[in-house]
Parts: sequence; C-alpha cells; structure tokens
Amino acid sequence: MSEYQDKVYDVAIMGGGPAGATLAARLARETELSVAIFEAEFFPRDHIGETLVHTIVPSLYESGALGKVLSSDCYVKKAGGFYSWDPKQPWASYFEHELHEHDGYFRWSIHCNRPEFDHILLTHARDSGAEVYEGTPVNGVSRQDDITTLDLGVHGTARCKLFVNCSGRTSSTTITGERQFLSNYRNIAIWNHIVGGRPAQSLPGDWNIFRERNLSPIASLAFEHGWFWYIPVPKLVQGKRVVTHSLGVVTDPSALSDPKKRFTDPRIFMDTARRVPLLGELIKDAQLVSDKFMTAPNYSRISGRMCDWDKREIRVGDAAYFVDPLFSSGVHFALQHAGMAMVMIKAA
Ligand SMILES: Cc1cc2nc3c(=O)[nH]c(=O)nc-3n(C[C@H](O)[C@H](O)[C@H](O)COP(=O)(O)OP(=O)(O)OC[C@H]3O[C@@H](n4cnc5c(N)ncnc54)[C@H](O)[C@@H]3O)c2cc1C
Repeated sequence: MSEYQDKVYDVAIMGGGPAGATLAARLARETELSVAIFEAEFFPRDHIGETLVHTIVPSLYESGALGKVLSSDCYVKKAGGFYSWDPKQPWASYFEHELHEHDGYFRWSIHCNRPEFDHILLTHARDSGAEVYEGTPVNGVSRQDDITTLDLGVHGTARCKLFVNCSGRTSSTTITGERQFLSNYRNIAIWNHIVGGRPAQSLPGDWNIFRERNLSPIASLAFEHGWFWYIPVPKLVQGKRVVTHSLGVVTDPSALSDPKKRFTDPRIFMDTARRVPLLGELIKDAQLVSDKFMTAPNYSRISGRMCDWDKREIRVGDAAYFVDPLFSSGVHFALQHAGMAMVMIKAA
C-alpha cells in the first residue's frame, strides 16, 4: 500500500511542471502545510517552451531554485530575439545582461533544455520537503465533508483539504469551469532538434546586433504558411553535451492533413525550413537529432474560474490560462501564478 493512502494532505497538487513544482517548493519551505505532488509522467520528460524570459529569476529566487538552475548545464543566456517577418527588414530586440556586472542582480533570460530545467524544479520541490509521486496520474477528483479525494486509478486514492490543478494546457479535468478560447488564432506547433546549425548571431547584416559579441538570440522567421522558431538548446546527444537548435514550425492545424505540408515528415520539414530566407543559411549543413517530431496545439485559452474557494480548488499555470507563446511568456506566467497561489493558501 502506498504511503499516501493513509494521509490527508493539507495541499495536493496535480502536475509537477514549473507551476506545480514551484508552488510545492514554496509551500514546503515557507509553511507547516503537508504537500504532495501527483505527476503523470516520470521526469525528465520532454516539454515545449525552451526560451524563458528574465522575469522567471525573482520567482526562482523566491522558491530557492535559482542557484540550482544557474549552476546546471541546462541553459545558455538569451540576449534577445530577431524577427524576420519580412526577410528584407529583420529587426531585433536586445536584453542588456551587462547591468549584472554593475549591480549584481541576475536578470537573465535563458534558452534551456526543458526536460532538465523541469527536472531541477521537481527535484527541488522534493528536496524542500514536498512528497512527489511520479508516474501517478490523477484521473478525477470528488469532494465530500471538507475532504477532496483524488482518483489515482491503479495507484489507489489520495486525500487532501485543498486541491491545486497544475496539470498544464492539456488538462481535461475541468473542475472550476470550462476553458474558453481567447481568440480565433488557433495554431499547431511541430518541432524537433537539429545538430550542425549555425548560431543565429552569425548572420551578416547591420540589423544583427548580436554578432559582434557572439550573443545568442531566438530567431523567429515567417514563411507562407506560418513561422519557424530557431532556439539554441544545450542537450545531451549520445552522452555528450552539445548546443543543438530547437527548430519548430507554427502553422494551421490543417497542415497535417495536406501531404505537401505534412511537417512531421523529416524531409518536408527540413526542405521547407531550408527554403525560408535567413533560416536556410543557418541550417544548410544541419541534421535532425531524431526522426521523432513533437506536436502541440497552441490555442490561447482561459478558465471560466481559476479558483473555487468553497470547494477548495485552484488552477495554476497553463491549467488556468495559456497565451500564444510568441513572446515566451508561459513559464514566467506559471511561476508568477504559483507565487500568487502561495500567498492565497498561506493567508487562508
Ligand atoms: C508551441 C508552444 C511554444 C511554447 N514556447 C514557450 C516558450 O518559448 N517559453 C515559455 O516560457 N513558454 C512557452 N510555452 C508555454 C510553456 O510550455 C508553458 O506555459 C509551461 O510549461 C507551463 O507550466 P505548467 O507547470 O503550468 O504546465 P506543464 O509544464 O505543462 O506541466 C504540467 C504537468 O502536469 C502533468 N499532468 C498532466 N495531466 C496530469 C494528470 N491528470 N495527473 C497528474 N499529472 C498530470 C504533465 O505531465 C506535466 O508534467 C510554449 C507552449 C507552446 C504550446
């Protein structure tokens, strides 16, 4: 019998991604509450969202995970981005990192290997005192007499006083209201990783403010059916640490049913990317790390209700709302939202 069967946790969290892990770490470190995470997968697991904005830094500092992330090899600093909506006129946004040398504050944006980044946060939650059960999906919840029971399928049940849904975008447990679409802009992302790609900062042109100091931007490049991202990501390939590039296309979901736009086909994906101005120069000699493509819908959505205090249920992170990822805001929102949930739970 699992050790959680006999307990009633003060807080049970469904999902151990950045939102769930950060909330659990903070509750374990800053309160006397008993906390458990029930996570469907075993970490490290693949995840989309590899370029993170600098506003994650205060949240990581507050949860105590900042030092662990900074001392890892899972990231490279992100110096901004360049956008080629019109290849004749690319433009760049620049993040000043050198201020750190003047005032000592970290304000780095990073490109990271999400399986490793998320694993660091989940391990930190466990080390902080939260109980973490991986490979334990929550199938449903029910509330009776001030206690919420989590149905864990073959793993039995667990009980808690307060339930937090941190199960991400694909969450199907619509406990606190249906999630509405925020717009008609509904795309799909298809991505993979490549080796042998040139760094985006190596491109010629006056607009390229990253070249002189060899700083790493994200590149976003439009083509006739959507846009590609190009992100440097340090990964372990055949046991060796290599800076790969994450190469992804954001396009209409109908692409998958059109044989000419089936971007999950390695040849169609690479041929299409090589025809995109500027991107073609960067990936001329590149190869896919694997033939396995990942896909994710990226429809912006928001929950009808993020919290039902009578039922002691809260949604945090993507489970509550998800905004199109063009400006790399998802993990920032998830961490900030975890901080707000923490304040609410602490005050209750
Ligand atoms: C195309 C695309 C590109 C993106 N790019 C970026 C980017 O560049 N930068 C950025 O910051 N964000 C990006 N995002 C968003 C980012 O990935 C998310 O905002 C972030 O991962 C949210 O964290 P979370 O903890 O809320 O959810 P998740 O990271 O999704 O974690 C949820 C966890 O819950 C678990 N889970 C799910 N169901 C259950 C269940 N029933 N029981 C138990 N566990 C369960 C999952 O296994 C998962 O580990 C992107 C998203 C998309 C779709």
